[in-house]
Amino acid sequence: MLETLVTIELPVGESYQLKRHRFTPTDESLNHGKRISIVSGTHGDEVEGIYVITMLAEWLKVNSDKVRGTIDLYPSLNSLGIDSITRTVPFYQVDLNRIFPGNARDTFPNQMAFGIVEAIKGSDIAIDIHASNIFLRELPQVRIAATYAESLVPLAKKLNMDFIWVHDAITVLEATLAHSLNSLGTRTLVVEYGVGMRLTPSYGQQLLTGILNLMASEGILAMDTLPVREPCYSDHGKVYYINAPAAGIFVPAMDHCQLVHAEQLIGHIHDPYGVHDPVPCLTPGRGVLFTLREYPIVYEGSLIARIFDDQTGVCQ
Ligand SMILES: [Zn+2]
Repeated sequence: MLETLVTIELPVGESYQLKRHRFTPTDESLNHGKRISIVSGTHGDEVEGIYVITMLAEWLKVNSDKVRGTIDLYPSLNSLGIDSITRTVPFYQVDLNRIFPGNARDTFPNQMAFGIVEAIKGSDIAIDIHASNIFLRELPQVRIAATYAESLVPLAKKLNMDFIWVHDAITVLEATLAHSLNSLGTRTLVVEYGVGMRLTPSYGQQLLTGILNLMASEGILAMDTLPVREPCYSDHGKVYYINAPAAGIFVPAMDHCQLVHAEQLIGHIHDPYGVHDPVPCLTPGRGVLFTLREYPIVYEGSLIARIFDDQTGVCQ
């Protein structure tokens, strides 16, 4: 059932609408009572999540007989941003994922945030899908604030992702949708993969398998669980950041997401004026390269790559 949950009129004659597609069992007596929300489009320049939700909706239409709970799909939280290829909320230049839980009596973006939390809260599980940004390409990963690691890591392992990254809680994370929902008792996983403004269909298929597996293992879908990959887990090693040593154009020397060894060439930074020789960017040690610069213009200090050094040997 397609529903419009929130409508906010804008001064320019447009309106913001929050829509969701809800799937429930055709026979309500088969509903085991669990509710999961799959959301994307908080950032209007990220389309990977919209694609995976599209595929999930198509799968659920064909397999409606397997539904044993409430499955809510929200493909485009910041629909105005998606319409205008804008990461933030248009006109306000506000990052929606920095103002949760919002406020019904505040500015328009705050009203959006408030309406979104009101719609999703009460779900048992939520999956908030992000696609990095236009600057960085990411290996399929789940990001979890350390505060919630104990309850979220077991769920994250079911999602068929390559990497689980547990962060220390920092102030800015407290204004995210995931933090708001987790603090309200909805176990919320943040998934990041791919790159802004683009689709990586193979990653989308990988996450779709993971979401179906998670729903099967939670009894929301009546089917066997699916085989999923064993993710690398940041608790078992260290994450290294590689920043640009100089400004210029970064030209990668490797594909994304691969095992690397120490002192391997990631790419060169070239000086467009040709005054300076190209500067090589090297890996500091062995590990999994899980973030790689996509947008070529860099300044000194720009993030070039992130590498996870697994110390248990799982990620070989
Ligand atoms: Zn995002």
